[in-house]
Amino acid sequence: MAVDPAVLKATVDVLLNEDTRNNIIMIIVIVVTVVFFLLAICAYILLNPLESLKVYFSNEDQVLVEEIKSKYPNNIIMGNITKNGIFCFPLENTESTVITADYGMYDPWNSGVLTKHTGIDLSGVHRDKVLAVYDGIIVFAGSQNSYGNCIEIKHEIDGIEIYTFYAHLSSINVSIEQEVKQGQVIGIEGGDPFIDPNPGNSTGHHLHFEVRTSKDYGNDVDPKEYIYKD
Ligand SMILES: [Zn+2]
Repeated sequence: MAVDPAVLKATVDVLLNEDTRNNIIMIIVIVVTVVFFLLAICAYILLNPLESLKVYFSNEDQVLVEEIKSKYPNNIIMGNITKNGIFCFPLENTESTVITADYGMYDPWNSGVLTKHTGIDLSGVHRDKVLAVYDGIIVFAGSQNSYGNCIEIKHEIDGIEIYTFYAHLSSINVSIEQEVKQGQVIGIEGGDPFIDPNPGNSTGHHLHFEVRTSKDYGNDVDPKEYIYKD
């Protein structure tokens, strides 16, 4: 293909202009720098396990608690909790107890308005013994608005802090700052609005059980992932 001499001359003239040359060099430097950083980011992602990256994008407490979950895995069937979690079952009677309200979004009044259930409701023997699911220290023992009589325990597992919460109790057997052992009786199940004292917002007897990544309401995770049933 023949090159038009006029076009060739114009191109040479442009390249000989110093300002134009400097601009071209500047653009090349910028492009090379951007490509270098993109390659460096790709290399970082490939060389680092995804687990470590997760820390940057999610709640740190949540990630730590996920560690416990992966170390003590569980198999769950609604209403039939199976085995191998780190926490023992929070009620003494494991035979007839079933999950009557699962963790997650639900419509408690069939009103079309979804709300989050921050724990699971376990229902079996009325006034069953409520057990500490793991060694820990009582951080709350008293009454809360919709939960009635309730208890919260702080645990430390493999250096990771995790909290469990037990609500709608007909009686409380522990006090704040008391140390408890796994399987120890901490209270008595309740929540029957006609028979039990201080049932809170409950339509029938059951234990509302939560697992939290930190002490306050709203830091819940699915408790089914952590408990086992003999
Ligand atoms: Zn509940």
